[in-house]
Amino acid sequence: MGEFDLIRRFFQRLPAADAGVEVGVGDDCAVLRPTPGARWLVSSDMLVEGRHFLSTVDPARLGHKALAVNLSDLAACGATPRGFTLALALPRVDEAWLAGFARGLWALSEASGCPLIGGDTTQGPLNLCITVLGEAPAGQALLRGGARAGDEIWVSGRLGDARLALEVFRGTVALEGNGFEAVRRAMECPTPRLALGQALRGIATAAIDLSDGLLGDLGHILAASGVGACLDVDALPRSAVLAAQPAALQRQCLLAGGDDYELLFTAPAGARLPDVGVALTRIGRIEARPGLRVVDAAGAAVEHGLRGYDHFAS
Ligand code: ADP
Ligand code: MG
Repeated sequence: MGEFDLIRRFFQRLPAADAGVEVGVGDDCAVLRPTPGARWLVSSDMLVEGRHFLSTVDPARLGHKALAVNLSDLAACGATPRGFTLALALPRVDEAWLAGFARGLWALSEASGCPLIGGDTTQGPLNLCITVLGEAPAGQALLRGGARAGDEIWVSGRLGDARLALEVFRGTVALEGNGFEAVRRAMECPTPRLALGQALRGIATAAIDLSDGLLGDLGHILAASGVGACLDVDALPRSAVLAAQPAALQRQCLLAGGDDYELLFTAPAGARLPDVGVALTRIGRIEARPGLRVVDAAGAAVEHGLRGYDHFAS
């Protein structure tokens, strides 16, 4: 199968008539119709084999995750998805692998109203780069810099399961049966919190999606906003599987896990938060004093020695 047959077969589908895509896959550029009064929001995320996923991962889950981590960035900004491009390097044409990958990718594309509008396909070590385009009304994108002293800190869903699954794959933790399947699903099939992000426009003062671990990602909000925070480690929402692990491992997964793809946001105390069917948990408070203080439920300082993920940190 040649390059163009491959694109036609796996990556070319007509976008929905109301998607605002005037030209999609097949020409030199896609042509999109902007919504009057909206701003474009654009983000890219690359997935490299061995670094972001294991070569043994189910291709359908990889297709889902490649798009999910990108949509998560749109969610963090409160954007509505409009389309995405896919740049793909493949070592060879493996039709069964491509069919699985495309199935996972299209399922999430359709569920989130985010059509594939173009891309690039080349031979090389397996590598996926997606760029998402979204929109938000002018002045309403959720950014990292708006947290103010007195705001409460909230997180969606549960944290730490993806990291727990990674530790199982690394062989440092043993988990069996349903527990392993549940955390593995969290790692391989994250749900981008798009409806929550859009519902938080005009309510959240700052937001970020959790990709590199809570400490690091909260640190980005604090730095951008010029504030500090107090974080209650015992309040962090966790699954029953994680809650059954030793306390030190729980803290490592919760505070520095990475790959959670939940939304972390700040809102004024007492703000009415939207109910979009995703659990929201208050985990701390923004303070004027710089720095991040981690405490337990009794208010005692917690020494953790952990930090967020950095690809180039030694
Ligand atoms: P060009 O040479 O003009 O850059 P290409 O030959 O790379 O165009 O691609 C042909 C068409 O297929 C373009 O519309 C491009 O956006 C699309 N395309 C290429 N690879 C992919 C892919 N992996 N997924 C979706 N669309 C793709
Ligand atoms: Mg090209």
